[in-house]
Amino acid sequence: MICVICKGEIEKHYTEEGVMYWDQGHNAEPIADGRCCDKCNQDIVVQYRISDMLVNKGGSNG
Ligand SMILES: [Zn+2]
Repeated sequence: MICVICKGEIEKHYTEEGVMYWDQGHNAEPIADGRCCDKCNQDIVVQYRISDMLVNKGGSNG
């Protein structure tokens, strides 16, 4: 899996037993259409959603 934001490899997550349980990346929307890595999700997507939420405060109770 390649991150659509930084084009880097999306790191897989493993359990303590070494079983891979997560390799799908995070939803990169609305930054990009596709999957992104942990870092981009934390640094870009989440930050964008937070700021977007603040801008749109007072909106619907969805
Ligand atoms: Zn990335």
